[in-house]
Amino acid sequence: MSSPRDLLNAAKAEIREIDPHEVAGRLDHFTLLDVRENDEYEQGTIPGAVHVPRGNLEFSIEGRLPDKHAPIAVYCAGGVRSAFATKTLQDLGYSDVVSITGGFNKWKDDGLTWATPRTMTAEQRVRYHRHLLLPEVGEAGQQKLLDSKVLLLGAGGLGSPAALCLAAAGVGTIGIIDMDVVDSSNLQRQILHNMDRLGMRKVDSARMTVEAMNPDVTVKTYDTRLGADNILDIIDGYDVILDGTDNFPTRYLVNDAALLKGIPVVHGSIFRFEGQVTVFNPYVGPCYRCMIPEPPPAELAPSCAEAGVLGVLPGIIGSIQAIETIKLILEMGDPLVGRLLTYDSMDQSFRTFKVRRDPQCPACGENAGPIVIAEYDDLCMPHAVGV
Ligand SMILES: [Zn+2]
Repeated sequence: MSSPRDLLNAAKAEIREIDPHEVAGRLDHFTLLDVRENDEYEQGTIPGAVHVPRGNLEFSIEGRLPDKHAPIAVYCAGGVRSAFATKTLQDLGYSDVVSITGGFNKWKDDGLTWATPRTMTAEQRVRYHRHLLLPEVGEAGQQKLLDSKVLLLGAGGLGSPAALCLAAAGVGTIGIIDMDVVDSSNLQRQILHNMDRLGMRKVDSARMTVEAMNPDVTVKTYDTRLGADNILDIIDGYDVILDGTDNFPTRYLVNDAALLKGIPVVHGSIFRFEGQVTVFNPYVGPCYRCMIPEPPPAELAPSCAEAGVLGVLPGIIGSIQAIETIKLILEMGDPLVGRLLTYDSMDQSFRTFKVRRDPQCPACGENAGPIVIAEYDDLCMPHAVGV
């Protein structure tokens, strides 16, 4: 029968160990794997390490570290559990794994960088469980969502589903600007509101719905008209703007202010049975003026207040906007930058069109002058400079 010491020696004979300083000097090369228990991890860890307790290793590791050929450096407290874990990973097919000699204790004693990780509450672990299962999101991604700030322009057809989706996903701060009151004619598509709230300010109704769904979310409301005089103050500090506005003057205003502040805008629009979504990432992809240099004549551009729209349609478009917002926050996937996604509900078809950045764009082009934040009328001619 083998003693624990024999088992350790047998494991160590089959793995490679590495000095903490060597790992510290090549942090961009290794993915660090912390195999200690939750209570040990919570008291301090190496920043950026993936945490999978030794007991969960066999069944969790492929979900957390799917690339079996990436270099992995494993550590525990003193170098014993990590030796066994390294052997296990090799048996599972991981080809480039090393165990850190002396573990986290030696790392700390040697004065190398460590930090106390931010941890989620037990309630949050339950709430976001399905996110934590995705290696592309995980605990770090969920923390990022909780730290993120998204501004919704409008609590109407597009803002409603977007607010619900983003709140459910755990976007920590949701700003909502809207100056209308809940009306029964809204309820055919504006699913944040309900019959008990007729006559209530839309921002207050939106806040009630979001707060009832997820207590992690802080809602900031702006019961005002977005204009040249306030837009720079309102959008300041937000990571992403989700544009659900329905008129050209506001879209140009939002575009210019977002360019000035460097905030990406997830644009959505709906008309009758069709909708479209694209992402304007300042100076990375095209802006709204690159895509639509001039507004169409007023008689060809009815706002949503005048045009019909099928009830479910904004739910789909607003949800796609929410997905794009989450992708931008988590820097994952291929966002709709430079691509316009269109959806036709009548034949259930999605199409994607390329949108190019215009070198001559008056807002983001090579020779564009300084951006002026100004009020626009229906023809989108600037009035007196507001800011
Ligand atoms: Zn542009």
